[in-house]
Amino acid sequence: MKRDKSPSELLEVKKAQETIFSNFSQLNSVEVPLIDSQNFVLSKDIVAPFHLPEKDNSAMDGFAVKHKDIADKKVTELKVIGRVGAENKSETYLNNGQAIRIMTGGEIPKGADCVVPFENTNSGPIRGFEYPNKVIINIPVNLGDNIRKAGLDYKKGSLVLKAGSLLTPPSLGVIASFGISNVPVIRKPIISVISTGNEVVMPGYDRKPGQIYDSNSFTISSAIKEAGGEVNLLNIVGDTKEDIESAILSCRNSDLIISIGGVSKGDFDLIKDVLLEKGEINFWGINMKPGKPLAFGSLNLEGYNVFQIGLPGNPVSAYVCFELFVRPIILKMLGANNIMRKKIKAKLTKDIVNNDGKRMYIRVKISEESNEFIAEIYNNQNSNILSSLVFADGLAICPEDCKVIKSGEELEVILLRG
Ligand code: AMP
Ligand code: MG
Repeated sequence: MKRDKSPSELLEVKKAQETIFSNFSQLNSVEVPLIDSQNFVLSKDIVAPFHLPEKDNSAMDGFAVKHKDIADKKVTELKVIGRVGAENKSETYLNNGQAIRIMTGGEIPKGADCVVPFENTNSGPIRGFEYPNKVIINIPVNLGDNIRKAGLDYKKGSLVLKAGSLLTPPSLGVIASFGISNVPVIRKPIISVISTGNEVVMPGYDRKPGQIYDSNSFTISSAIKEAGGEVNLLNIVGDTKEDIESAILSCRNSDLIISIGGVSKGDFDLIKDVLLEKGEINFWGINMKPGKPLAFGSLNLEGYNVFQIGLPGNPVSAYVCFELFVRPIILKMLGANNIMRKKIKAKLTKDIVNNDGKRMYIRVKISEESNEFIAEIYNNQNSNILSSLVFADGLAICPEDCKVIKSGEELEVILLRG
């Protein structure tokens, strides 16, 4: 890896991230119905209100017995004195020489210390509430066999889920197991998305010659949802001061406004004029590729203070900037324990040449070969190439000061999925 120490006037990615992240914090807590809570972040610890399972219970359909009655004997005949279903509380006490018919999930009767499955007896599975008078145990089991002990999964008072955990399908299941139907979560941030540009048209509408369809609104909106935010998607705004102004004003109730486009040299001044009138905005040239131009600041919109991030209009730049600067703050507002994507080290399949001293985010696809990660580099890394995003599941980071990285060398890769 060849390194070059030439300084740059552009802002470092890390500095821009620190500045942006430091302005956001966890939002307030709300209660949502458990069934709607997937992908929210839990705002309070959940502590087990009782043991799970609550009582010692049977793992099999069969007969609850005393182990000493069946141990070391080839065949044992026991008197059957009752039945326990999965729904029943066991009231009967088991004495010597006795058995109780038991169903999977049924509470182990007092006095019993193992369960013999039907298959080990002369009795077939019996439907309904019937039970035989006697049962012959043909094959014994060990002490404690087929008993699921109380509290084996969760002990009463133990921590089930920590505040800050993302609610996944299994966590919804475990919360439900404790009878909890509403959960305290951090409310989702409302993120307004405004695509700008006279040339940009919503899919579904007719285009004039030279116009292109809006892809950014869709990539960025779904990336917001994936990160756990709620999207307020506005209509496309033309490149006029009035249109941009009224669009921004209508977003005053949001937790964040994302504008897309209008921050590169051509129309830079237009969005700058509007934003500077409304608050304090930094227009940064970030030392990265793709995604050099970025705007960040806070606006005062008729008494509401709202943060704004201006993403570049080129689709790859917009997405990469979203990943680096916006996704982490959505997770921060959601109170997540970890706001950054996972990184791995992976071997490159081609040389990378970094001529202009920028931090490069290279679209790669990751695979695993003989316990090593391989990063396959997409053949076109330009900032307008949507197919590179469809291809990639990772962004390989080529540091600013690396001029050449040879095929076979390792780079850090940000994983975009999972
Ligand atoms: P801008 O940052 O507005 O100068 O846009 C840079 C490039 O990205 C131009 O080629 C635009 O046409 C393109 N672009 C801007 N907005 C979008 C969008 N919403 N969807 C697709 N391409 C866009
Ligand atoms: Mg534009």
